[in-house]
Amino acid sequence: MKTMNSYCRERYGKKLYKLSLDGGFTCPNRDGTKGYDGCIFCSASGSGDFAEKGGDVYSQIERAKKRVEHKNKGGGYIAYFQAFTSTYAPIKRLRELFYEAIDHPDIDVLSIATRPDCLPEETLELLEELNKIKPVWVELGLQTSNRETAEYIRRGYENEVYEKAVSELHKRSIYVITHMIIGLPGEDITDMKDTLSFIIKNKSDGVKLQLLHILKDSGLYTEYLNGKVKALEKKEYLAVLEELLPLIPETMAVHRLTGDGDKRKLVSPLWSADKKDVLNSVNALVKRLERENEYIFRPIKKEEIPQMFSIILDRMKWMDKVGIRQWNVTYYDEVYPIEYYEEHRLAGEVFVLEKKADGSIAAAAVLKNEDERWENVSCYRERSAFYLHNFASVIGEKGAGSVFLSLAEKYAKSVGKECLRLDSADDNEKLSAYYTEKGYRAVGHCVDGLYSGTLREKQL
Ligand code: SF4
Repeated sequence: MKTMNSYCRERYGKKLYKLSLDGGFTCPNRDGTKGYDGCIFCSASGSGDFAEKGGDVYSQIERAKKRVEHKNKGGGYIAYFQAFTSTYAPIKRLRELFYEAIDHPDIDVLSIATRPDCLPEETLELLEELNKIKPVWVELGLQTSNRETAEYIRRGYENEVYEKAVSELHKRSIYVITHMIIGLPGEDITDMKDTLSFIIKNKSDGVKLQLLHILKDSGLYTEYLNGKVKALEKKEYLAVLEELLPLIPETMAVHRLTGDGDKRKLVSPLWSADKKDVLNSVNALVKRLERENEYIFRPIKKEEIPQMFSIILDRMKWMDKVGIRQWNVTYYDEVYPIEYYEEHRLAGEVFVLEKKADGSIAAAAVLKNEDERWENVSCYRERSAFYLHNFASVIGEKGAGSVFLSLAEKYAKSVGKECLRLDSADDNEKLSAYYTEKGYRAVGHCVDGLYSGTLREKQL
């Protein structure tokens, strides 16, 4: 995934820090042109809670620089007009403000947050002129492509206005970043995917995925008090990101994956106030998705069956070596001979993890539709499941097992299964702990010949 940092390093050769500025603007949703109440999610400071206030642009830049100077090791700065609609002023005023920012010697990029319906021809011409001096980014608050939601949040313009704005900015070689909100009232994952597809279709250069915050001084707060809206739980938010991030093309930079609302105003979700924890969770998710993207999860081919059997045999030898007593002491290769895998392949139940880099197989397993070992477990018929068996990764393929498991869960979910079930040998504490950590709870027990194991289930 291309992040803002990786984009800046690639494009400008260094990391850039954003200096949030306030140009003293208002917006058409607040001054009566389109409305007085503002967008339903927007704070009284026009979503510029962290922007410098007061003084001229130069002194705002100097003050903002002081806040990040200690972190900045050879990076540059972006002058970011964040508060309200930062192109909503007479052209003369815009010219003064933007030139003051772009003329500052420490500024590398000028970034302007605005609405697509506040980009008249003369403003576009000014931005084009500025873009020839230093790069100009324009950030457009689309938030959603769902027309009903757009009306509910009082956005105040049609999707077509956004489409035209992106096209006009691109004609002038201006870099466009689009903001979308995750978790808007009434929206499900399909709506959010639709919004992202709309942004991608319009070739926005970057995207900001902002978690919906309910702030005390926003219209949403009343809705929240009346029980009409609810913010996402952390788990739900991460699940949405997990669905959205793989859709973002490599060419599009992700400029934000979280949103850090002003803690003093934040009503919900309170978990989002723990910025460090949110960042750690998001980074872990991104890392996992990047890892998953190195592989293809697919059904095994007939000619690959001997290879899968070899992976199993290698695992048995490895168990001897590291002192694990499992497949190597239960005649596993005789109980599950090579014909067993071919039989299940014909039933469409054998899957492999293929490395995109060289096409080799990194892990494999059988995903059965039924498992008689589970017949005495109370939840057996309650939920539809896949049963993971004969699961092995190539020795030395670090992390391939985890990736297989994660992709098998996604596959199971995509074909309508409600859970993935597996079992772990009772005397293999390490493996039991591993599955517990992956969310597989113990729900039963089984004995099969010399094997005694714990039956585990993860709801998807
Ligand atoms: S989000 Fe932008 S357009 Fe909407 S009320 Fe806030 S400042 Fe105005």
